[in-house]
Amino acid sequence: MLCLGFTQQLHAFCLNLKKIPALSFYMCGIIGYVGKNSATPILIDGLKRLEYRGYDSAGIAVRGKSAFTVVRRVGRVDQLAAAVAKAKPVGSLGISHTRWATHGGVTEKNTHPHVSSDGKFALVHNGVIENYQSIKKFLIEKGYTFSSETDTEALSNLIAYHYAKEPQQSGTSCFAESVRKSLLHVQGTYGIAVICLDCPMELVGARKGSPLIIGVGDEENILASDVSAFAMRTRNVVYLNDGEVVHIRPDGFTISTITQEEVAAVVQEVDWNIEDSELGTFKNFMEKEIFEQPAALENAMRGRFSDDGSTAMFGGLNLSSKELRYVDRILLCACGTAWHACLVAEYLIERYARIPVEVEYASEFRYRNAPIDKNTLVFVISQSGETIDTLAALKEAKRKGFRTLAITNSVGSSIARETDGGIYQHAGQEVGVASTKAFTSQILISAMVALYLGRLRDLSYEEGRTMVDALRSVPNHVKEILKQADYIKSIADRYAHFKDFLFLGRQSMFPIALEGALKLKEISYIHAEGYPAAEMKHGPIALICEECPSVFLVTGGEIMQKTLANIQEVKARKGPVIVIGPKHCREEIQADEYIEIPDVHDAVAPILATIPLQLLAYHSAVKLGRDVDKPRNLAKSVTVE
Ligand code: GLU
Repeated sequence: MLCLGFTQQLHAFCLNLKKIPALSFYMCGIIGYVGKNSATPILIDGLKRLEYRGYDSAGIAVRGKSAFTVVRRVGRVDQLAAAVAKAKPVGSLGISHTRWATHGGVTEKNTHPHVSSDGKFALVHNGVIENYQSIKKFLIEKGYTFSSETDTEALSNLIAYHYAKEPQQSGTSCFAESVRKSLLHVQGTYGIAVICLDCPMELVGARKGSPLIIGVGDEENILASDVSAFAMRTRNVVYLNDGEVVHIRPDGFTISTITQEEVAAVVQEVDWNIEDSELGTFKNFMEKEIFEQPAALENAMRGRFSDDGSTAMFGGLNLSSKELRYVDRILLCACGTAWHACLVAEYLIERYARIPVEVEYASEFRYRNAPIDKNTLVFVISQSGETIDTLAALKEAKRKGFRTLAITNSVGSSIARETDGGIYQHAGQEVGVASTKAFTSQILISAMVALYLGRLRDLSYEEGRTMVDALRSVPNHVKEILKQADYIKSIADRYAHFKDFLFLGRQSMFPIALEGALKLKEISYIHAEGYPAAEMKHGPIALICEECPSVFLVTGGEIMQKTLANIQEVKARKGPVIVIGPKHCREEIQADEYIEIPDVHDAVAPILATIPLQLLAYHSAVKLGRDVDKPRNLAKSVTVE
């Protein structure tokens, strides 16, 4: 029986929301369609919207009258679209995929969809089938053949194998059952969409570790790894959970677990801002998202300060003040840019709340089995809410009985659903692969967390008020810094030809130095390293020469003189120096280039210093002719180990 549960249910994490903003990002994009319309244009449009998270190759399979029409191309979705325009696949059932290769090179043969060797099934997959070699060996012995080097093809043939074994009863198909049985043998992670030649109007999907969402339409249903793939057609969605299989037809769907338990579908309505996924007047998404920061930061704070203006408040922590007072230690876990946000959070929480903080790479934490004090709060940060290592770290912490919180930009994401409580960023969709507005919003929220925890402990009313005022002023300061974009572009134009850069800063500016180096290398491919400014003497100083510029992040206050001494050390060795520093220090600091940031409260200086670094990286990459939104080898969020 097909079941559709149209209950609007909001997750505890977003109790105060009427509609949930739809955001989630991950490697590779999947979209499948079954319904009253022609599948091809819907699939191609969906792929274009998903392309930013995996873009080494793309493919489509549409069920025609007696066979699948499969078109696959190495390169961008535009190349696939051109080939599809010639092949003109006709049909109302189809699947498509943009790939971020894990197993097998970037070739047409390895591009998804993968059709089983008996021609019955076409499948697209996000994730990794870890035991694909033993499955493949078994299937080769049974006579199935393989034409790719991927792990995925083992699954399309395994489904064909189970289907061939099933006693086919007239009137019903064993399609979904064959998928379910196959998945019982699979180790690893997957989000899959499968179609079967014998079943003209049926689409089957399943997930474990990779997101999959059903878009519930009018006589049509869509299955995709991201709401953005179909938000133009429907805002009614069902988020699948790990271990669930969905069997979809145009007029409905059934969900069950792979162990055959029935699952009641919860349809939610997502809020979708079309402007988030359109470029408008900007040249690319990274530029757009850099300039969206004042609004994103404003959104992170909206409704989150107390009436007396001395502290922050969060609706979805699901932890009382009393419980938070018992927290002796905080463990922050994340990957990539979000890990840098954790390092800033460490400074802020230790300084303002006086709670000891440790920061771990989620990928290390999940396997390290580190001893953790019993009153530790585990806090994860992930823009996409789908980062696989962060999700695994969160699950591991929960398994051990720790209280968990998350900061994420993605409502309905796996991390949002897994955590005990958390804080949504409300930064809007971030499409550019290099994170910009999500990062600054994570730091801002971390500062608010530090303030909130501080006010539960020793931070005075006055100190709280000062900090709230400082936080509130951030969007305007960011607007002012953005006015220097042309000036920063002129610096980037002069320096983009250098092959190596150092980024240096002390205390809370050290993680910003790391982030500046990461931003530059990920989109311009210039080698860059970030260090605490004083650590430079312990090794990196060997790189200093006329050909290696150093970008110094300077804060006023007690350690400024120490950083100035480090600048002198670089100048003495003829290294070019770019300084991002407070207005009032301009005269005192001898730099080749000086980018001013306003004199502000220490808690918010890291946010402001980040903006020039983003612009520097962005303009350097543009100068070098890089594709800033889709840098080589990267994808928006890492959902494979
Ligand atoms: N592991 C599969 C492959 O390499 C899927 C990769 C992906 O998620 O795009 O083809």
